Amino acid sequence: MKCPCGSERDYADCCGVFHQGANAQTPEQLMRSRYSAFAMGNSQYLLATWHERTRPALKLDDNPEWVKLEILAAGQQGDQGHVHFRAFYRVQGELGMLAEHSTFVREDGVWFYLSGDIQS
Ligand SMILES: [Zn+2]
Repeated sequence: MKCPCGSERDYADCCGVFHQGANAQTPEQLMRSRYSAFAMGNSQYLLATWHERTRPALKLDDNPEWVKLEILAAGQQGDQGHVHFRAFYRVQGELGMLAEHSTFVREDGVWFYLSGDIQS
């Protein structure tokens, strides 16, 4: 199965590695694996990679169908990381798009999602 993150690689060799417990090496890897987790309804992984300071009570009951991820920019400075992305989803046949600047932080070698600025 192709990875939901759009890398054109097999899921098992892409985001599946991180869903199985490996630590993402870059903010972009973490972003991609979190997108794939959304696409697959893997709330356990989403919570595990969400910084405890900002972690919500996550319910994926109304999770839309995620259809595509575009990474527009990604980078890191030391233990701070950022990813600018667009994610496309479908709700009741309607295509929607979410654009976000996400912030990541690395603690003890592990990247966490900290927060996101959603743009309209
Ligand atoms: Zn992937």
